[in-house]
Amino acid sequence: MESKTNLIIVGNGISGTTLARHVRKKSNRPILIISDEHPYFFSRTALMYVYMGHMKFEHTQPYEDGFWEKNNIQLLQDRVVRFNPEKQIIHLENGGFLPYGDLVWAVGSIPNKPGWPGETAKRVQGLYHKSDLEQLENWTPEIEKAVIVGGGLIGIELAEMLRSRGKAVCFLVRENSFWNTVLPAAESEMINQHIRGHGIDLRLNTTLKSITTDSEGAVSGVVTQDGETLSCQYVGLTVGVRPHIDFLRDSDLDCGKGIRVNRSLATNIPHVYAIGDCAEQISPLPGRPSVEAVWYTGRMMGETLAQTLLGQPTNYQPGPWFNSAKFFDIEYQTYGQVSAESDEKNERQWFWQHPTKSILVRWAFRPTNRQLLGVNSMGIRLRHQVLHQWLLEGITVDAAIDQLDQACFDPELTPQYQDEISLAFRSKQNMI
Ligand SMILES: Cc1cc2nc3c(=O)[nH]c(=O)nc-3n(C[C@H](O)[C@H](O)[C@H](O)COP(=O)(O)OP(=O)(O)OC[C@H]3O[C@@H](n4cnc5c(N)ncnc54)[C@H](O)[C@@H]3O)c2cc1C
Repeated sequence: MESKTNLIIVGNGISGTTLARHVRKKSNRPILIISDEHPYFFSRTALMYVYMGHMKFEHTQPYEDGFWEKNNIQLLQDRVVRFNPEKQIIHLENGGFLPYGDLVWAVGSIPNKPGWPGETAKRVQGLYHKSDLEQLENWTPEIEKAVIVGGGLIGIELAEMLRSRGKAVCFLVRENSFWNTVLPAAESEMINQHIRGHGIDLRLNTTLKSITTDSEGAVSGVVTQDGETLSCQYVGLTVGVRPHIDFLRDSDLDCGKGIRVNRSLATNIPHVYAIGDCAEQISPLPGRPSVEAVWYTGRMMGETLAQTLLGQPTNYQPGPWFNSAKFFDIEYQTYGQVSAESDEKNERQWFWQHPTKSILVRWAFRPTNRQLLGVNSMGIRLRHQVLHQWLLEGITVDAAIDQLDQACFDPELTPQYQDEISLAFRSKQNMI
């Protein structure tokens, strides 16, 4: 049965905001969203475009400021510092406290700082919050050369941002090819070349040893594990993120990497839930990580928990994995399971790559019955709905390639490669 008590959501990112909107659609219960970052929900993934001058910060907010009052969703800008589950209250940084009927942690992530010497120096930062962007903006005039440490999605975004302002960028990547723990070799190599093509000094197989500082405590350079010194005025630390839950570790909440939740997103404490980047599945879904720190799963967790709080207990069932990103000019989408290194026994792969352009489509399928397991696309965008449906239905890779036109966008808007892909598939080029 739906509760009529108040609902407090801590965090106004995609997960917390989606939850509030979906509960409000069907319930009049009091809802309060608390966030320490900004009064209103904004798109974190669009922050880079603000720095690059493609949009103003206001444009990252999908709802007008009046939306919240109109929908009777209260907003509070403050930091929650602890909670008392017996009394069902949360404590705020400003000294006040608030009672809750249901409490949802939707507090997101923070950038990892692994403890390198010098990592707390001035002009060293991770990129996650709005304040990181503001800090970067303030430091920008002082930066001539930047070093970015950590070859993932946020690292490459930061490299693009700094290049857009004409900064020299050196990009230190521990692996022997960009993001090759996730990307198969051909995709990873394509991105290596693309990064270098954008004037970035990409250093593979390179790890940071320490950060050096000047007499004012600001970064002056980095030293690599090989003993090389690179001078710079800025260091971006993009070595992953982790759930933003350190302040909850002393509480009775069951915490591992994140706040541990069951399939219905409930924690070990009655009336307390966790969603989005900060939630850790006790029993992860097959083939998926226990902490899913991506935008669309945050939204799905918000939608799912709303149903439970509306009196219809619902389990988190996100369906096939999906993620997308942009590596400078190359759009990347991944659907289902496409392993960086497939083993012939459980997953075969086939890919088609354009002879001259940065375009590639990879298909993963089960060797026994040729069921489609997943697709990677670089440089062309496929229709999410179609790919999602194919994976749900479990169609074969042969049927998928035969119907590829269904997954492609309007030929007038995007180049079409179905014929080349079908032809190459039949001739079994690049079969792995
Ligand atoms: C630069 C960048 C680019 C990204 N690009 C992509 C992408 O292309 N695709 C993709 O899928 N994902 C991307 N992500 C990841 C995606 O943005 C996150 O997965 C998503 O925003 C997480 O949403 P969330 O609701 O869990 O938390 P968040 O968006 O982190 O929101 C949590 C909020 O809670 C606040 N908060 C934390 N603790 C407290 C407290 N104690 N009291 C009050 N408030 C608190 C935080 O300040 C924050 O405002 C990107 C992330 C970054 C940083």
